[in-house]
Amino acid sequence: MLVPIMAIHDVIVLGAGVAGLQCARRLRGAGVDVLVVDRSDKPGGRCATRTFDGQPADYGPLFMHGDDPGFLAAVGAVPGERLEGWPARVSGRGAPCQPDAFAPFATRLAFTDGMNAFPRSLAEGLSLCLRAQAVSGGIEKDAVVLTLTGGDRLHARDLVLAMALEQTIPFVRMLGKSDGGRSSLGVLEMFASIPCLTVIAGYDAGIVLPDWDICYPEDEPALLLMSNESSKRPRASSRVLLFQASANWSMKRLERPKEEWGRELLEIAAHRLGPWAGAPLWTHLHRWRYSRLDKSNELTGPLELKIGASRIGIAGELFSPGGGLQAAWLSGDRLGKKLAE
Ligand SMILES: Cc1cc2nc3c(=O)[nH]c(=O)nc-3n(C[C@H](O)[C@H](O)[C@H](O)COP(=O)(O)OP(=O)(O)OC[C@H]3O[C@@H](n4cnc5c(N)ncnc54)[C@H](O)[C@@H]3O)c2cc1C
Repeated sequence: MLVPIMAIHDVIVLGAGVAGLQCARRLRGAGVDVLVVDRSDKPGGRCATRTFDGQPADYGPLFMHGDDPGFLAAVGAVPGERLEGWPARVSGRGAPCQPDAFAPFATRLAFTDGMNAFPRSLAEGLSLCLRAQAVSGGIEKDAVVLTLTGGDRLHARDLVLAMALEQTIPFVRMLGKSDGGRSSLGVLEMFASIPCLTVIAGYDAGIVLPDWDICYPEDEPALLLMSNESSKRPRASSRVLLFQASANWSMKRLERPKEEWGRELLEIAAHRLGPWAGAPLWTHLHRWRYSRLDKSNELTGPLELKIGASRIGIAGELFSPGGGLQAAWLSGDRLGKKLAE
């Protein structure tokens, strides 16, 4: 814990993903005392990168895409090397995660250091309280109180909920015991996130990987995409591919042991790419229970509830058209501006 936990903050932002971090940046820029709380050991949430043998591999979103000038300016401010236009070599005619990702007006790029470079840059200078999982929330004496695993309590005048939809709903249920709260809950419960089972696979440096950056197979119900992660790393010494399973396939296997669906996905990879693809040197399996929303699941702005003297703001990809990272950033940005007024 990096902060004195008895202090009453102006605002606590629960969730250090792109939405929560951008909201906190806006608030801090307006002179508001804001603390960002996250259960993870680093900021970024679903905008996730892991390093294997010194080589980063993305396993949430694989590239940035968008057209909003503010969002693109924030992306442009990320330090380090970038790969403008990645993915340039796209194979297959399957649907990408976000339909607008390949629209002619969209800018696309990746970071050599991995996608987590973006939230890392947003987190710069913010007060973060990491490895802190909130388990309940309530209102006491005109302040919001969050209770963490282990019993520590955090206090704030206002609260921002910036987590995946299914992680946000229990807090709205606990805090929003008013007409406004109940109607917000009704709206939120109309939507749902889809899962995504993911395999990162490392191969011998002698393997020649396919000549695409991303492949969206149109004829494989199990696979949403395959990504050549090594093509983002100009100095890569090992060969890394990533396989993201489709939502339907993931849903059916969500509760099965990781090894089982991991093996199945590699068999499918071997069938498509050759036997070498089914026999990596190492794998890392990740179960995204709440990966993203469907394109149609979108509202036009962040939600705000008034409970006693406190305000509860809700941000995330649901609250801006288009979904995905840009929507998460925009919703956090708008909510931060609104709460700072
Ligand atoms: C596999 C995959 C592929 C994707 N592909 C794309 C794509 O191509 N294009 C695109 O634009 N978007 C894509 N997305 C979606 C994009 O990553 C998300 O829309 C965006 O990152 C959401 O940001 P967020 O800040 O709203 O939420 P998150 O990033 O989920 O942040 C929420 C944070 O809250 C924390 N948290 C949750 N519960 C608690 C708790 N109780 N206590 C404390 N902390 C808590 C979590 O640890 C997390 O850090 C993809 C996502 C995944 C997983």
